Amino acid sequence: MNCATFRKQFSVFQDNRLSSDQMNDMALHLQSCADCRKFTEASEAVWELLTILPKPKLPPFFYTRLKARMEADHQAKPLSWIQRAVLSAMVTAVLTLGIILGSMAGRFSRAAKSENDLFYGLPLEEINVLSESAYASDYFEFFSQEGGAE
Ligand SMILES: [Zn+2]
Repeated sequence: MNCATFRKQFSVFQDNRLSSDQMNDMALHLQSCADCRKFTEASEAVWELLTILPKPKLPPFFYTRLKARMEADHQAKPLSWIQRAVLSAMVTAVLTLGIILGSMAGRFSRAAKSENDLFYGLPLEEINVLSESAYASDYFEFFSQEGGAE
């Protein structure tokens, strides 16, 4: 066994997870090699230090809150300033288009009303005072005209 192999297998050796032959080879190398003994001592000292160090106390529900935050971040990443600029430009464009279409529709319906296209010469306010039969005869007249035009 050489030093490179020893150090590569070192942590598995310390966990006693090598085969018995490999464990023996490692132990033999450790006895014969001063460098690897120093390496072993140093690494054991580090592990000891790690066990001595106090564990930081976490606030209550740390992992629950961390997990929730990670999931929220995953679902909705904060927008970059470019994305926000593009988004606000798109919203402005949609709103502007809506206003333009709305005013066009308003102008169209006012035009239709004034030209008596929709209500056969009857302003909207007067529909309520019409008798049912008068309304029905207007309807009939309208459809018979349409049918005759074809
Ligand atoms: Zn060695």
